[in-house]
Amino acid sequence: MRLVFVGPPGAGKGTHAKILSNRHKIPHISTGDILRARIKDGSDIGKIAKSYVESGGLVPDEVVIQMMKERLQEEDTKQGFILDGFPRTLRQAEAFDRALKQLSIRLTAVVDFKASLKTVLRRLTGRRVCPKCNTNYHVVNMPPKKNNMCDVCGEALVQRKDDLEETIRKRLEVYDKDTQPLVDYYRNTGLLQIVNADLEVEDLDKELESTLKSLTAV
Ligand code: AMP
Repeated sequence: MRLVFVGPPGAGKGTHAKILSNRHKIPHISTGDILRARIKDGSDIGKIAKSYVESGGLVPDEVVIQMMKERLQEEDTKQGFILDGFPRTLRQAEAFDRALKQLSIRLTAVVDFKASLKTVLRRLTGRRVCPKCNTNYHVVNMPPKKNNMCDVCGEALVQRKDDLEETIRKRLEVYDKDTQPLVDYYRNTGLLQIVNADLEVEDLDKELESTLKSLTAV
């Protein structure tokens, strides 16, 4: 299965990519996670990306496209993948199409996580993440077992800098302007599947599984 998840920040793409990745044993590739790791380790890409990521803007297309071309050639993607956060602009989508053609592979589906503004604001302002293993939590909907500590590795949870309310608004504006046009682009290719991302995790998981089942049964 080769999937692309699109949808505004806070729609649950990362949460569901992780669930499906564990269940179907295919890698979850999040450009946001890769960029945050590069920023943390101080690499050249990280130095370029830092100010964009922290202010809620998009990292330049050529940086992200090159990074993803390399990632998609790694061995683990042979069994499939779930892309979360890429492509995010039409230019990225076109470059991605060319890369897929070169690798002679086809996408199974592009899943649009359709969520209301109320839902994404509630999810993002309450989101907490583990800086070590990237597990996501929510102060109300998905709290850790021990106060503010990661269930997986015991690290103290943090709020992402770009999850502060002002930056969230900027990210949502960027999404509407740069990423929303991708939905039409993929609708025209016949790959688009829309899911109701206002649903809670368990219900959306069921909706995703039944969508994927209908696709792979064809
Ligand atoms: P995310 O974790 O997907 O919300 O991404 C966090 C931030 O990483 C975004 O606000 C952008 O600054 C950057 N980013 C992630 N993916 C991309 C992409 N495909 N193109 C440009 N910037 C990206």
